[in-house]
Amino acid sequence: MILPIIAYGDPVLRKVGVDIDKDYPNLDELITNMKETKVKAQGVGLAAPQIGKAIRLFIIDASPFEKDEELDDKERAYLANFKKIFINAKILKEEGDEWTFNEGCLSIPDIREDVVRRPKITIEYVDENFEKHTEIIEGIAARIVQHEYDHIEGILFTDKISSLKKRLIKKKLENISKGKVNPDYRMKFPLLKRK
Ligand SMILES: [Zn+2]
Repeated sequence: MILPIIAYGDPVLRKVGVDIDKDYPNLDELITNMKETKVKAQGVGLAAPQIGKAIRLFIIDASPFEKDEELDDKERAYLANFKKIFINAKILKEEGDEWTFNEGCLSIPDIREDVVRRPKITIEYVDENFEKHTEIIEGIAARIVQHEYDHIEGILFTDKISSLKKRLIKKKLENISKGKVNPDYRMKFPLLKRK
């Protein structure tokens, strides 16, 4: 089932997600629905707060980057198979020289901004079978994980840009909250006035 994606301005996007356990109600169904919703919206990642649940769950499928000709063959091959479900994730370490990458977000349609982050992370999480993993992830895959991880910490990429840029997009963000935007997927807008 396709779920509506929660738009910028909704308080659920600002909550710190809570850990879940195996008994979380209808977890398999929730993950299936999130996968369908992400594919429909053509995203590479989707976090539970974006469908209205403040829990520590996000899913990633970086395979669209397989066709990105700006990347070298090795990274393309790695991203082609980078499909994971992260539950109760905790980033343990972020390393390397900061680099800039242009980010977007399904909750913030039509806005893209350069965001600075570190290129290499160590993350601990459990998968959909609640098996524990500790992994080192680098490059664009790390970037996607950091973006989704921020969601479960109540942080959005627009928090990480300069105050000048924040001022420049302020009106656009307000309009997104009011539903004055036209994405190709279903959304739920916190300040949409119903007639
Ligand atoms: Zn996002």
